[in-house]
Amino acid sequence: MAVQTIATTSAPGTTGAPETDRDTAFGPAVALSCRECGERFPLGPVFACQECFGPLEVAYEFPSGDPEALRAAIEAGPDNIWRYAPLLPVPADVASRPNMNPGFTKLVRADNLARELGVTGGLHVKDDSGNPTHSFKDRVVAIAVEAARAFGFTTLSCSSTGNLAGAVGAAAARAGFRSCVFIPHDLEAGKVVMAAVYGGDLVGIEGNYDDVNRFCSELIGDPLGEGWGFVNVNLRPYYGEGSKTLAYEICEQLGWRLPDNIVVPIASGSQLTKIDKGLQELIRLGLVEEKPYRIFGAQAAGCSPVSTAFKNGHDVVRPVKPDTIAKSLAIGNPADGPYVLDIARRTGGAVEDVTDEEVVDAIKLLARTEGIFAETAGGVTVGVLRKLIESGQLDPAAETVVLNTGDGLKTLDAVAPTTGPSAVIRPDLDSLRDADFFRKHTTDDRNSREAGLA
Ligand SMILES: *Cc1c(COP(=O)(O)O)cnc(C)c1O
Ligand SMILES: [Zn+2]
Repeated sequence: MAVQTIATTSAPGTTGAPETDRDTAFGPAVALSCRECGERFPLGPVFACQECFGPLEVAYEFPSGDPEALRAAIEAGPDNIWRYAPLLPVPADVASRPNMNPGFTKLVRADNLARELGVTGGLHVKDDSGNPTHSFKDRVVAIAVEAARAFGFTTLSCSSTGNLAGAVGAAAARAGFRSCVFIPHDLEAGKVVMAAVYGGDLVGIEGNYDDVNRFCSELIGDPLGEGWGFVNVNLRPYYGEGSKTLAYEICEQLGWRLPDNIVVPIASGSQLTKIDKGLQELIRLGLVEEKPYRIFGAQAAGCSPVSTAFKNGHDVVRPVKPDTIAKSLAIGNPADGPYVLDIARRTGGAVEDVTDEEVVDAIKLLARTEGIFAETAGGVTVGVLRKLIESGQLDPAAETVVLNTGDGLKTLDAVAPTTGPSAVIRPDLDSLRDADFFRKHTTDDRNSREAGLA
């Protein structure tokens, strides 16, 4: 991928931004640092190192203090990601600004699914379908919006596999930005409608996500894109930090401790990378007790460049052309792929992939066991969890958290062909009595009652 560098001084929309605001706009964040060479740059709308073109990430100076007091302050905060404002690149008064206030989604104890999969060490689903636009993307956009405000951008934009477009549209509407978002032209109807309904501009690009992303990179370097903040391109360092809140929430909801295993979906790999960053911060700040944890990455077989590299023992990720129903994860050239490989190997995890058929089965399995209707990305993580257990790569006696990052209502097509009414009958009791499904239903019911389980 062509990486583009924008000097802070000449970046669109930054000229004239008052420096005093800049000093407090990013809270504990002090600089951007290069993941490759460590070079530091001032906080600005830049995403690639001017020395080596490596990706930039937010660096912090956290006040050293009593972990007990920090935990108490967090617990007293709002029921959304802003409870973690002291650990994010946002101003201290962020909770009072117009924002979608995502996060603090449910961590569901999944005993039925655990029984089905043979997990004995405890299994939880972190259900991010409960966010305002029904995917985890509200977390990353919420942080990017605050950065866009600080840099004086007037339009919010992104290249999206679907969920991000909706999250940006909604956040722009709430925060008073114009929006113009770009998606591959062939996305699911649920995602297209959701991205358009908030009133911003939505543009379908004739190409796949990687084409859309390349297009957006060009637009950033062109006067046509003046004043535009692309949440996942020129605001990417800030955007990425939003995923740390998944790590914070999981640990807090477990009673301020680390799980043994986390199963995370991979599109660009940003989410997985930043979950690891969040866990490391919790350890460093003394908010959780240090112990080993394993991070597992999940992809669809039809777009599995990271899984392929992991299995082949490669350090580089060879791009692929995606072909899968898991469109939210269909990034053939994942920017953070190499870092995902590092993390999976360092923590003793793995990266695995499942077929579209296994994705559909896993969506239904999660729905049937826990009452959670996941989008295809959730089918990918649950399907991969099952495969990791079956292949002995994940210890079923360890405590595991599996992520569901989106809502099944947005990807109805995945399950619609194999899901529907048990029968369509006339409105009389004889019709019910004669229906095939009803015989089986009543037999099962009677057996349950006799077994004393009803
Ligand atoms: C975007 C997305 C992800 C992860 O994306 P990354 O680019 O890897 O951070 C996971 N699940 C869903 C549903 C998404 O929309
Ligand atoms: Zn560098």
